Amino acid sequence: MCTIIAIAEPNPDYRFFFFASRDRPVDPFFGNYLKFIPNNRVLGIYDKRSDGFSSGCSLKTGIYAGVANVGDYKGRKSRGVLVKKVLTKANNTTEAALMMERDLIHGEYSSGGYIIGKDGENWLVENLENSVYTERLGKRHVLTNFFTGLKGEVPEEAKQRSVFVSKNLLNLSRINVGDVLKVVAHHSSIDGICKHGVTLASFFVAGDVNGKSKVLHHIGETCQNLHGVLDLFPELQDSVEF
Ligand SMILES: [Zn+2]
Repeated sequence: MCTIIAIAEPNPDYRFFFFASRDRPVDPFFGNYLKFIPNNRVLGIYDKRSDGFSSGCSLKTGIYAGVANVGDYKGRKSRGVLVKKVLTKANNTTEAALMMERDLIHGEYSSGGYIIGKDGENWLVENLENSVYTERLGKRHVLTNFFTGLKGEVPEEAKQRSVFVSKNLLNLSRINVGDVLKVVAHHSSIDGICKHGVTLASFFVAGDVNGKSKVLHHIGETCQNLHGVLDLFPELQDSVEF
């Protein structure tokens, strides 16, 4: 279970916001931490078991991406491997979307929904077995754990989470960093974004109008506030704020 939010032009100071939370998968799992890899200067939430990223961004290309598990098709390959691949190999969003489509069409990856974007131009990619759906998104989008392009079951809880984000965040005329942090801290058995005790990590990139990115993260619950990455990776000083 995960919640991914992409917003273009949230307010006059920012070009985009990208937020992704990762909840504990059903599969056996170990390792979940913020990792930086030099290929394309990719920073993200790393899954050690699959050697993939659940979400992340490239500080070289400006591309960001995240995946949510949708449907129950189990493929041979882990979804996070594909997130890592597009972040480390694609140079623009078109290339990233095509790369995903090309890989997913073989039906080797477990089913899921991805958001990939750059500078607020966002794409949705969904896959189930060898069916793939791609859509260029509008300015504001929330992705939870159900398909919107492909056919599939819509879990009530995932639908309610999507409604909560739309109503309390995406409908605001001007959205600030604090508004995102407040909404993702929401607890509720019906539509909570923070699955307290289950949420493993959050990743948030806010790209400002001067081309700088503020990157915040938290390993653990989304209600615990998110912290900057510079204390962990001071070598990123030239390209990341906070
Ligand atoms: Zn919480």
